[in-house]
Amino acid sequence: MDANKLSRRAFLGTSALTGVVSGFSRTFVGLKADPAFLVPTSAEQTAPAADWFDKPMRWAQLTLVENDPGRYDPRLWLDYFERIHADAACLSAGGVVAYYPTNVPLHHRSAWLRDADPFGELFAGCRARGMVVIARTDPHAAHQDVYDAHPDWIAVDAEGRKRRHWASPELWVTCALGPYNFEFMTAVHREIASRYDVDGIFGNRWSGSGMCYCEHCERNFRAATGLALPRTTSPRDPSRRAYLAWQQDRLFELWRLWSREIAAIRPRARFIANAGGGALSPLDMKTVGEIADILFADRQGRSGSTPLWTNGKTAKEYRAALGRKPVGGIFSVGVEDAHRWKDSVQSEAELRLWVAEGTANGMRPWFTKFSGTVYDTRWMPIVERIYGWHHRVERYLRNERPLARVGVVYSQQTAAFYGADRAREKVEDHTLGFYQALLEARVPFEMVHDRRLDAEHVRAFTLIVLPNIACLSDRQCEEIRAFVRGGGSVIATFESSLYDERGERRSDFGLADLFGVRFAGRVEGPMQNSYIRLEHAADARASHRLLQGLHDTPRIINGVWRVDVAPDAAFEATPLTLIPSYPDLPMEMVYPRVEKTNASQAFLREVGRGRVAYFPWDIDRAFWEVMSLDHGRLLANAVDWATNDERPVAVRGPGLLDVTIWRQQASLTVHLVNLTNAMTMKGPVRELVPIGEQRVRIALPAGAKASRVHLLVADRTPEATISGEHVDVVVPSILDREVIAVDF
Ligand SMILES: [Zn+2]
Repeated sequence: MDANKLSRRAFLGTSALTGVVSGFSRTFVGLKADPAFLVPTSAEQTAPAADWFDKPMRWAQLTLVENDPGRYDPRLWLDYFERIHADAACLSAGGVVAYYPTNVPLHHRSAWLRDADPFGELFAGCRARGMVVIARTDPHAAHQDVYDAHPDWIAVDAEGRKRRHWASPELWVTCALGPYNFEFMTAVHREIASRYDVDGIFGNRWSGSGMCYCEHCERNFRAATGLALPRTTSPRDPSRRAYLAWQQDRLFELWRLWSREIAAIRPRARFIANAGGGALSPLDMKTVGEIADILFADRQGRSGSTPLWTNGKTAKEYRAALGRKPVGGIFSVGVEDAHRWKDSVQSEAELRLWVAEGTANGMRPWFTKFSGTVYDTRWMPIVERIYGWHHRVERYLRNERPLARVGVVYSQQTAAFYGADRAREKVEDHTLGFYQALLEARVPFEMVHDRRLDAEHVRAFTLIVLPNIACLSDRQCEEIRAFVRGGGSVIATFESSLYDERGERRSDFGLADLFGVRFAGRVEGPMQNSYIRLEHAADARASHRLLQGLHDTPRIINGVWRVDVAPDAAFEATPLTLIPSYPDLPMEMVYPRVEKTNASQAFLREVGRGRVAYFPWDIDRAFWEVMSLDHGRLLANAVDWATNDERPVAVRGPGLLDVTIWRQQASLTVHLVNLTNAMTMKGPVRELVPIGEQRVRIALPAGAKASRVHLLVADRTPEATISGEHVDVVVPSILDREVIAVDF
């Protein structure tokens, strides 16, 4: 039995007895505990009630730097937390630097600490303001005295050298999987939990800094697997495969150990790992979702050509693993870039849109600031404005569940065993393309973890999308089949299900029966100058739904990769056929050698009450690469054909909008984030550009009766018509975002 579950049940029992679960923060909100803000509090007096995880809505993180103690002004921070209505804080406690008078040997006290306890002071000040408080530790680096006493605690590179820290060369990089974490950091976590009534300990950079070849890793890996540590990153290397599994086991063991040790001292407290993400993240998100009671997504901002909607995507990925459990979205107020200007400040427009994307997609904001001494204060009123609005409309942000009906699958096993070193291009780019297409089509959707395809986790969806989910086990294929048998629809692209969960190619698709095709033995690409012919009916009105809006289009560009397949089922006339590649130079040679083939490039059919569309090419990845309008339209049409149902919310009007729809206890909300901006695909945003009128039709959930419609950003009552099954709303204009709230 999981120790977490045991202690969770134990303290739930306690809170039921004392009846203090709700309203924990009321007592101290607004209390300026004047000089008392520095006095350590009596723990039992001010501690939030037992199950605190779902309470906080707005997080504040102050990461102290070593010379902060005695130099920075804690009062400034505590006043700021109060002013912005932050109801939870993450504060620096220990690890590479201790900000309290630690007694754990080799736990390095800040050289500026003297007799002070800056962590304790801030902790007490936050508690006096009724805030949830978690302590932050960072174990990834250590000082010379640690090296001298325990050289075996230091990480070792492939050449056998102990690793100096890449940014602070006076420090050493620690091994995450050996005694430094399992013994030393356990002692640190125990000490923090014993001395302070914290609600949890947040571990930053706790899972290692790349491959480690230290004596503990060598020995423990060999004991567990009989193998030497891998020297390649190839998923074909048996040692590498074994390592990926062993490293996960070791890290989950560490996470559970720290959580257990902390909860043994403070039953409501947990270790909260800084971990998680999408297909490219290393730790299995299904397990993460089971261990964590709360989690935070460390996507602080964008750099390079990161699209603005990335923060929303992150929120969806975490929710796919955590379900209803709270997820915080960590954002930096500064520029996030490889060159790491940690004391910088972002534009207001960029910050507002980044946070709006997280909020619209169900994450709770968490600002992070490094250094108690503030060199540039421009961000402070910006976060105050963002949090102020969030606080005012908080009850509409306490979501019960999303009402989206489309789920896009992501697959860590596909990234690890099929994508490997090229996972970004071979796996993630398919997802990004489909994501962009759904966003442009204004379809609300969720992400789905491929290990949560069972009936319980896909029940809410009418359509599941497999954007080149190449690796699927027999069991996962059966779950998808069961979804279709239950009336669900599926869209799949390219090599979906052509490999098993370990990345071994099958002789045929695992989902061949659903697709109605079999693998003909060949994958072609990269193709140059290939096209797709649109097979319109003589009467355009009789053309397939897939071709809607393309009636004047005889042919479109093809993708870059395609799978040769042969139909096994009966299909109606195909809407798309292949025009094979022909030379693109010299220009005199550029003419199609074959103008028409019978090779279908879209297999669409009804299977029971469900619909299945299979594209044997990389339409989604090519859309991400080339952004061809035609590919986007085909994808949107495929989604509408496959769902074959009214959307939960339909939005008509100009611009690029992220549309999400949520149910709260007594209301429904539709978030409209305005991504119409020259800097949407590469930041930072310079200015917010308002878009014009949007006509919004919301389908009311069965049994719900709408009583009032309100715009939460404009703070006004819009022009709206409430009928039995729908609410029609006119939103005159949107600057950065609008939220339509429908009260029941
Ligand atoms: Zn090691």
